[in-house]
Amino acid sequence: MQFQPILEDIVATLQPQLGAAGRVADYIPALARVPAAQFGIALRTCDGQEAAAGDCRVPFSIQSISKLFALTMGMRVMGDALWQRIGREPSGNPFNSLVQLEAEQGTPRNPFINAGAIAVTDRLVSHGDAKAEMLTLLSGLCNEPVHFDEEVAASEAATGFRNIALGNFMKSFGKIDNDVATVLDVYFHHCALAMNCVQLARATGYLCRDGLHPYNGHHLLTERQTRRVNALMLTCGTYDAAGEFAFLIGLPCKSGVGGGIVAVVPDHLSLCVWSPALDATGNSLLGMKALELFTAKTGLSVF
Ligand code: GLN
Repeated sequence: MQFQPILEDIVATLQPQLGAAGRVADYIPALARVPAAQFGIALRTCDGQEAAAGDCRVPFSIQSISKLFALTMGMRVMGDALWQRIGREPSGNPFNSLVQLEAEQGTPRNPFINAGAIAVTDRLVSHGDAKAEMLTLLSGLCNEPVHFDEEVAASEAATGFRNIALGNFMKSFGKIDNDVATVLDVYFHHCALAMNCVQLARATGYLCRDGLHPYNGHHLLTERQTRRVNALMLTCGTYDAAGEFAFLIGLPCKSGVGGGIVAVVPDHLSLCVWSPALDATGNSLLGMKALELFTAKTGLSVF
């Protein structure tokens, strides 16, 4: 399939809607000042074909997309033991919700809501330097250097009262082993990674190749682990809109409040869309529309 004309077509279709609806995340200044009228899209096939269009090389804050890579690191170092502290059910609640944690004794519903990612990060902190390891992992996966946006990381820390509450609440149930501030410093840095669509399409390449690293030929995850990550993306990757995403798009996806969404077509390709204006669930409005157009035009779906 020739993907480049399809991506260009999607950019042209969405052009008139750029910045017209939705709201850019405004809980920190560095995200609030990102111009809404931007849209990028990029993909990489399993056999290395790349296509990209629009603002595909503009770096953005990957935010909760980092939860995908944190989970991957957690599965690598801990295997199935990771699931002793983290559930695998969709939450049906906003990404930063506290409500289910008390009834569930400090065990988060899944690794893709904030509580779950903080719990995964705690496990990573127990195993090593989770900031440096994330940079090494992502730089290798997209074959280019990747960095943290320190301004975003500092603002996340200065305003992250709810995440601090989530960390302390889980700690009160004995479910966080390390110092909460140390764990959150790593979590905030992971959220503050700056990447572009081309890099993220490459970096998620292992998810469409049964866990095989897109560049070095080694398995990052086993085939079974990779299926499980994709299953979690489909059921939990877009928070309380996961049902809607499965219904409208039919691909495992992971979104972030920076406006990025990554999606996987197993055995075919991985792709990333980005547009900063969000809907009420914190998912990119035009990103979601672009994924709908992409699956309609290509006929690709996990169903
Ligand atoms: N930094 C954001 C937070 O922790 C990430 C949330 C998101 O992208 N959904 O609240």
